[in-house]
Amino acid sequence: MRITIAIDGPAAAGKGTISKAVAAHFGFAHLDTGLLYRAVGAKVLAGQEAIAAAQALVAEDLDVGDLRTPDVAQAASKVAVVPEVRAALVDFQRSFAQRAGGAVLDGRDIGTVICPEADVKLFVTASAEVRATRRFKELSDKGHADTFEDVLADVKARDERDMNRAEAPLKPAEDAVLIDTSELTAEQAIAAAIAEIDAKRG
Ligand code: C5P
Repeated sequence: MRITIAIDGPAAAGKGTISKAVAAHFGFAHLDTGLLYRAVGAKVLAGQEAIAAAQALVAEDLDVGDLRTPDVAQAASKVAVVPEVRAALVDFQRSFAQRAGGAVLDGRDIGTVICPEADVKLFVTASAEVRATRRFKELSDKGHADTFEDVLADVKARDERDMNRAEAPLKPAEDAVLIDTSELTAEQAIAAAIAEIDAKRG
C-alpha cells in the first residue's frame, strides 16, 4: 500500500510531534524535511557553499551533531530561499514519499510542491506566542540560554522568511485540512490528525 501524508506548517506548531505519532500509529515511515535544510544550514555555518552542500547531501548528514539549535534553524531558513538548494533536495523527498507501506513527510511545502498528489494534507498552525512558548521550553530543557524574547523573535523571523520567499513559500495547499493547535494538548492534536487520516482513507 502506498499512502503519502503531507504535514506542513510554521516553526514549532506541533508538526514534528503530530508526524511522529501519526507515523507510529499507522506504521508509516516518517521524514522531517526540515532536517534536510538544517543539515545544509549547518554545513554553511561550517564554511561550505549552500548549493554545493545541498547537492552533496547524503542521508548520514541528517544524523550529525545537534541540528536543532536556533543558529542552525536560522541558517536553514536562509538556505531554504535559494531555488537551487530546494531543487537539490526534491528527489530525496519524493522517493521517500513513494515508500511501500506509507510515508509521512513534514515541512513547509510538502502539500504544495513536493507531493501535490499526497493522499492527506494537513496544515498545522498555532499563534506565534504559543509556538515560541513551546520552543522556549524545549530549548531550555536542553540547556540553551536563549530568552523567551529571543525565541519569539526567531520564530517570527523564520515565519517572515518562509512565507515571503519566491520559491515554495509556506502556505496551506488548497485541499489541506487546517489544524490549529493553539488551544490543543499534544494528545488532542494527534487525535485530530489521526481522525482526518482515518476519514480520508475511508
Ligand atoms: O521544520 P524546521 O524548523 O526544522 O525547518 C527549518 C527551516 O527549513 C524552516 O524555517 C524553513 O525555512 C526550511 N524548510 C523549508 N521547507 C521544508 C522544511 C523546512 O523551507 N519542507
